[in-house]
Amino acid sequence: MKIRVLGASGSELPGHNSPAFLVDDFLLLDAGTISLSLDRDAQCRISHIFLTHAHLDHIKAIPFLLDNIVSSRQKCRLTILSGQDVLDDLQKHVFNNRIWPDFSRLPTSEAPVMRFQELSTEGFFQVKEYKIYPTRVDHPVPAYGYLVEEAGGNAFVYTGDTGPTEQIWSRMAGHRVKALITEVSFPDELLALANISGHLTPSLLQAEISKMPELPEKIYISHLKSYYRAAIRKELGHVTAPPIILLEDDMVLCV
Ligand SMILES: [Zn+2]
Ligand SMILES: [Zn+2]
Repeated sequence: MKIRVLGASGSELPGHNSPAFLVDDFLLLDAGTISLSLDRDAQCRISHIFLTHAHLDHIKAIPFLLDNIVSSRQKCRLTILSGQDVLDDLQKHVFNNRIWPDFSRLPTSEAPVMRFQELSTEGFFQVKEYKIYPTRVDHPVPAYGYLVEEAGGNAFVYTGDTGPTEQIWSRMAGHRVKALITEVSFPDELLALANISGHLTPSLLQAEISKMPELPEKIYISHLKSYYRAAIRKELGHVTAPPIILLEDDMVLCV
């Protein structure tokens, strides 16, 4: 699998986009950044968007993508997938004909550009030859991480935003997890802020690694608050783990 990082940051500045990871050109994990990074044809190749949760930095590119598709009369269609609680929030608070049009009824209610697909945390959801296993993670709002496995058995895990958690680590057991994409938002000096906002610091990541029944080959870190990037990088140097790599926009990972 080829994972293109459209955005990997926990705060926005030039060159630091909100989270979005494009897998093999068609499957998107989170949607913080799309139309400022992909040309129109590449936008149209996206068919499935798996959302970890409904926080704005993970969903905010969807309205503009839909607007591009409908206004340019392209034939592409989007399926938005997540837990029903996340989809309900999107429908109620974004696509409510007040903040943004209800694109699940546009251009026509018979053939809308967007449809919602509820995911269950039991088993997996299959798209083409890819199996996607949703698992609960711990954040102040309903949130899911995903294990994505290709037909050959290689897999990666994306946690999205999470504080200390359990289930997704157990989910890795028995899979060939080549890469873990997780988050470290704050340095250790802001541990209290990390705890109340449901995020990790380097020392919290160390504790999470010790819970993993099987270690991934590499750990990629996203969602850094840009202001603390240097401090977080230094503290991650003390974490005992598989190789740890800080993600940057436009990186391409091969799994
Ligand atoms: Zn969040
Ligand atoms: Zn976030």
